[in-house]
Amino acid sequence: MDRIIVIAEENERQLIGRFLPGCTDRVIVTGVGAFNIIQSLRDIPLDTEIVNIGYAGSTNFDIDSVVEVSESKLNHPSVTYEEPTYKLETTGEFPNAICYTNTDFVLQSRYRDCLFDMELAFIMVMGFDRVRSIKVVSDNLSLHSYHDTVRTAESGNEVLSGGMRKIPSFTVNHEKLLRGIYVSRKDIIGQEVVTTFDIRMKEPNREPALTPEVSHTIEHLAATYLRNEPTWKDWIVYWGPMGCLTGSYLIVKGNLESRQVLELMKNTFTFIAGYEGDIPGASPHDCGNWTLMDLPGARREAEKFLKEVIVCAKARNLEYPTD
Ligand SMILES: [Zn+2]
Repeated sequence: MDRIIVIAEENERQLIGRFLPGCTDRVIVTGVGAFNIIQSLRDIPLDTEIVNIGYAGSTNFDIDSVVEVSESKLNHPSVTYEEPTYKLETTGEFPNAICYTNTDFVLQSRYRDCLFDMELAFIMVMGFDRVRSIKVVSDNLSLHSYHDTVRTAESGNEVLSGGMRKIPSFTVNHEKLLRGIYVSRKDIIGQEVVTTFDIRMKEPNREPALTPEVSHTIEHLAATYLRNEPTWKDWIVYWGPMGCLTGSYLIVKGNLESRQVLELMKNTFTFIAGYEGDIPGASPHDCGNWTLMDLPGARREAEKFLKEVIVCAKARNLEYPTD
């Protein structure tokens, strides 16, 4: 009989090696929630053994503790009837607990000593004969600590004593960093993720940086373009030059990757490269150093970045060097 490993999100893949070292079984990354489970498992024969591995919330279990699920239940908070309970196989390797599956991320519950996820009961209700589930507690019903856990797992960043994480951009080896568009960090503000991009126009310390005039002009033009771009303007939080003058930071609302803003950056730098006329905001009323401008220089640098980096971006221009 076949065995399949079911995870909801790509970042849970590293848990497979932790619990099933050497496992070569097929892995299905379903996506979060009922619809994705049904869509991705509908053609899998029901006698296939399923091992569901992933992150789950809990009111009171310690974060990072490992739990094997003994029972799975749907949890619709407003129904008055008893929801069905599904039994799972357990190995006794880890403490057991019930897992409640919800349609949304659970932010509060009176249930204790149990887990909350968004998939398991939907796997069970499809009728698979043999299901096992190992969950790692990612959060105590906090979206913030869930994202933190996932991000730590993804990046392998060490958690410093006292719980403060190293700021990811400080861990980048600038000696290997190329020109490109990189995710510098992701922050959770309330329930929103905000992504900071590193728009790196110059190789650090290996070529002359931008001049302050060029960097400032690019700031005015990029900010103007981004705040007027019809699809993105409501998502743009900030654009500003780096103090080292090798690029700029772009802060965008949402959990984003570099490729998702590549087209936007292409359009932004095309706008700068072809800009003619008065520089927006370059007046004593609007700017703190309004004559610090160099439009021809900004156009030249934008054109160079566009041609040499953006339109031909490779993985090394979109993902930070790993060492
Ligand atoms: Zn200014």
